[in-house]
Amino acid sequence: MTRRNNFILAVASTLFMLVAAVFILGNGQGKTPSTKNSAEPYIARSAVQAEKPAFRTHDKCTDAEEACLPPEQPPVLPLSGSTIMLDAGHGGTDTGAIRNGIFEKDINLSVTLKLRDVLVKQGATVILTRDTDIALSLDERKALIALHAPTLFVSVHSNANLNPLIDGIEAYYYNDASDTLAQSIYQAVIDGLGEHGNWVRKRELAVVHHEFAPATLIEIGYLSNPAGRALLVKDDYQDRVADSIYKGILNYVSSQRPGAGSPVTPKEPVAPAASPVSDQEAQPRATEKANSASALTPTRFRIGPPPLVQR
Ligand SMILES: [Zn+2]
Repeated sequence: MTRRNNFILAVASTLFMLVAAVFILGNGQGKTPSTKNSAEPYIARSAVQAEKPAFRTHDKCTDAEEACLPPEQPPVLPLSGSTIMLDAGHGGTDTGAIRNGIFEKDINLSVTLKLRDVLVKQGATVILTRDTDIALSLDERKALIALHAPTLFVSVHSNANLNPLIDGIEAYYYNDASDTLAQSIYQAVIDGLGEHGNWVRKRELAVVHHEFAPATLIEIGYLSNPAGRALLVKDDYQDRVADSIYKGILNYVSSQRPGAGSPVTPKEPVAPAASPVSDQEAQPRATEKANSASALTPTRFRIGPPPLVQR
């Protein structure tokens, strides 16, 4: 009986294998490799996701696993939830500084538009005081800040001085609450560009002298310095400026989140080294005692009375 059973079992197994082989060969013959078996789970998952009503959540789902995916969540980007107002300095008939046919207003706008694009990609809502070559008064800019009350405000300027040796980065703020923002952007721009920093200073410039939002004005370099001007007109350098300001903004926003420590580690301001005369509008009250002749260092032209740019 055992031998007979073994024989029957062997015959049955052989028949089964033959039938299975014919079935498999029949399905595969003349066809490209089936995507149904290999790729279907991924495609089906996508299809199910697309067809699922938005309100269907994982804990309510009782279907097969692939039909129980949680609803899609909007991506959380580094600046999601932040509204950032950017101000390209000058514009229209107000050219700002002019050197070798280069208008400050154009550099400011170009960098500001690049910065806008970076910030939007990182999730921010961005509001511009101007996105074309138009003139805006300081009162109009200030009114826009008051109207939108953004998370923060950044005004972008390029600098100029009668002394072509002067270069470097400067930042201004007025309210104490804006100090951290100014320091953060100032330091990020110095680090990102490999430029030296002149100072971060408290000053009554219209676009930062208000309570509507933390506000800073950043001077991204000197058009009056030949080497600086050659960099400021370059598209890739402007990209680096925009990316650096973005990093400063990100550091600031991160530092303001609940429970966040301050990632900003401002360096000590550079000591006053010279007293260049600004070729832009002078505001004597902004001149600081630190810029007196006692601080002169003939070989370095870094610091002087703030080279005013804000009209
Ligand atoms: Zn300016």
